[in-house]
Amino acid sequence: MHHLAALGALALACAQLVAQPGLAEEPSAATAPTAAEPFTVLVFSRTAGFRHASIPDGIAALKEIGEAQGFEVVATEDPAAFTDDNLERFTVVVFLSTTGNVLDEEQEAAFERFIAKGRGYVGVHAAADTEYDWPWYGKLVGGYFKSHPKIQPADVVVEDRTHPSTAHLPERWRRTDEWYNYRENPRESESIRVLMHLDTESYDGSEMPGDHPIAWCHQFGGGRAFYTGGGHTSESFRDPDFRRHLLGGMLWASGHTEHSRANGESETPAEESQ
Ligand SMILES: [Zn+2]
Repeated sequence: MHHLAALGALALACAQLVAQPGLAEEPSAATAPTAAEPFTVLVFSRTAGFRHASIPDGIAALKEIGEAQGFEVVATEDPAAFTDDNLERFTVVVFLSTTGNVLDEEQEAAFERFIAKGRGYVGVHAAADTEYDWPWYGKLVGGYFKSHPKIQPADVVVEDRTHPSTAHLPERWRRTDEWYNYRENPRESESIRVLMHLDTESYDGSEMPGDHPIAWCHQFGGGRAFYTGGGHTSESFRDPDFRRHLLGGMLWASGHTEHSRANGESETPAEESQ
């Protein structure tokens, strides 16, 4: 119940900001996503395949973000964390460049029950290179990894800037990363809301010519799932724009933003003036 009350208070606060923009002392504060109340995020980075050297940087960044925003971030590589009792402590679980088969069947079932309770999942980069034999997970993440070209800059087209993870971004966001190809196009899933795609003419090696989603979200299995394909490099986790992108994803997955109330559909377009 107190979640609903907090969301109501947040919605009211946002409505006041929209109605009286002069009240916002700092221009960025009006659109910056913020946590309405403390919650706890579990970051899971177990690897059974390729191990990204950026994982410690990602964990450090997520902890710093949580500290700055007033929510707790706990990191583990222990699959035994996936029990009903332990997961109960958390609002969001981040799969941070996990690879391969990282959970056994009982742990998978516990995580499915966690999502069914309305909790959140955030997948970063190789989270899509994980659990190929667990069909529920494949639907949750929204697309399995297929291949990637070399690390290079590309133009990310931010097609939906009404989401907490993208509201701060330019319409074309040029950045360097390892750009994954996916086995399926997530846009073909009815539930998935694509937030950003790659301009496949802006770099070499896309195997999804014409439509190459790179970040998306959806309501799935009773909860919320957000995925972003970036995050191969350590530099990604020091980039303020990418960090804010991750923050918005975690907040949306947690249900602690007004945008997430509308089943993943935004009712409030981003303020053009901000
Ligand atoms: Zn990678």
